[in-house]
This record gives sequence, structure tokens and C-alpha cells, in this order.
Amino acid sequence: MNLQGKRAIVTGSNSGIGLGVAEALAGAGAEVVINSFTDRDEDHALAAEIAARHGVEVSYIAADMSDGAACRALVERAGGCDILVNNAGIQHVAPIEEFPVAQWDRIIAINLTSSFHTIAAALPGMRDKGWGRIVNVASAHGLTASPYKSAYVAAKHGIVGLTKTVALEAAGKGVTCNAICPGYVLTPLVEAQIPDQMKTHGMDRETVIREVMLDRQPSREFATVEEIGGTAVFLCSEAARQITGTTISVDGGWTAL
Ligand code: NAD
Repeated sequence: MNLQGKRAIVTGSNSGIGLGVAEALAGAGAEVVINSFTDRDEDHALAAEIAARHGVEVSYIAADMSDGAACRALVERAGGCDILVNNAGIQHVAPIEEFPVAQWDRIIAINLTSSFHTIAAALPGMRDKGWGRIVNVASAHGLTASPYKSAYVAAKHGIVGLTKTVALEAAGKGVTCNAICPGYVLTPLVEAQIPDQMKTHGMDRETVIREVMLDRQPSREFATVEEIGGTAVFLCSEAARQITGTTISVDGGWTAL
């Protein structure tokens, strides 16, 4: 797979799935811009490590994906992009009547509205070049629901709708827009949910993993960041040029149930 000459921006890519996708795109030859809001020395060092590992250009640009202007500025500062992976995301688990309003607003902003802004900023340049790939990291929760995740499920269903709309607006211009819908992947985001789930369900860690999380995943295995990265690289390939406006589940069979 040769993505040489293509510049990719991956939002929220200093850990977890975003980092896995950035590694996979760099491994396929793309120039990669990684992002988070943290702007620490280790974020810049991470970019240098990925660059050295794959022999491609990798830079780090700090931008807070809860801020629309910052989302657009990320695309501008990168000099536009050929590949845009909207991955930044957060989670909060609570019954709807106790769901903090600030958490609802933050999840909708980071998990949904940020993609509106980055796509609006990146799409015109892709259309002009006649080539582009937009990959939105949605979730099995973009296709189905779980209790106590109202904001996350609403945002992820929203991103699936946004994916379809952008695909139609980009059709015939060499630009595709698709969503990857992972099931459970053991990343810091999922690790952080385990204590809340233990409290909510009154279970220990191993029981929550087995009976709450992987109970939905018929393979009984977590998906890996490498598998999500490989799926993103496939969506960027020429073989995928007629795949647009759709979702690809990487969920061990969760949404087949
Ligand atoms: P993670 O916590 O490891 O990574 C989240 C990334 O988003 C980090 O790089 C973090 O720095 C970044 N981020 C958070 N807030 C940000 C902000 N305001 N501005 C910029 N960057 C910000 O989590 P993950 O599991 O790798 O999640 C990545 C994406 O995958 C999310 O959209 C998540 O909803 C989705 N997803 C994860 C799973 C899973 O099981 N892990 C399943 C389905 C979908």
C-alpha cells in the first residue's frame, strides 16, 4: 500500500486508536500530522519516534477538538490534507437523569462537532486535487446503543449521519467519506470506563470485562489498534475508491447479533 505523497491528519492521536491509525498510515508511506490538546514534550517526541520508525515526515500540532476554531486551524496549520481521520473522542457513563450537562456538551463537541469543522476545512482542498479520504472513527455505538452512554451514543449515531451526508457532497470528486465502527478496543478510553462500570454494575474488573464489555462481542476478544489502523489504510487505498458513505464494523460480530 503506497500512500507516499499523501498528507494525513489524525485527530486525537497521541494514544489508543488514533496512534494506531497514525502508525499504520505512516507505515503505508503517508506524511502524518498527529494531534492532541496536550502539547507536551512527549507529544512532539512521539511524532519524531513514528517518523524514525517509518522513514516518513511526522509532525505534532496541538489543537483542542472541543473548540471549533481550533479544529479549523489544525487543518490550516497542517497545510490542508489528503487524508483526514476524525478520531478524537471521550466518554462519560451515567444514567440520563444524572448525566452532567457539561459532560453532554463536551462529548457532543469533541466526538461530533469537531468533525463538522475539520471536514468543512479540509474538503475543498481535497475536491480541488480530485483525491481525498475522510475516515471517521465512529463506534459500534454509532449503530446500536447501550444504557448510560446517552451522549456518546447520540454523538456516534450523529457521526454516521454526517459520514453519509459528506459522502454525497463529495461524490464524483475522487473523495470518499466512511466511518469505522470499532467494538471494544482496550485503550486508555476503555480502561477509564472500567471503574464506573464496576460501580454501576456492582462487579469486579474481570467480571465487567467478560460479562459487560465482551459479552456484546461474540468473538470474546478486544479488537486491536493495529486492526483499526489496517482498516483505515484499506479505506485510503485505490481498491476502496467506490466505498463511500458507509460504515465498516470491526467489532468481533457485535452488530451482527
Ligand atoms: P483514547 O483515550 O486512548 O484516545 C483519545 C484520543 O483523543 C487521545 O489521543 C486524546 O488526546 C484525544 N483527545 C481527547 N480529547 C481531545 C481534545 N479535546 N482535543 C484533541 N484531542 C483530544 O481513546 P480511544 O479508545 O483510542 O478512542 C479513540 C476514538 O475511538 C474515539 O472517538 C472513541 O470514541 C473511538 N472508539 C473507541 C473504542 C474503544 O473500545 N476503545 C470503541 C469504539 C470507538
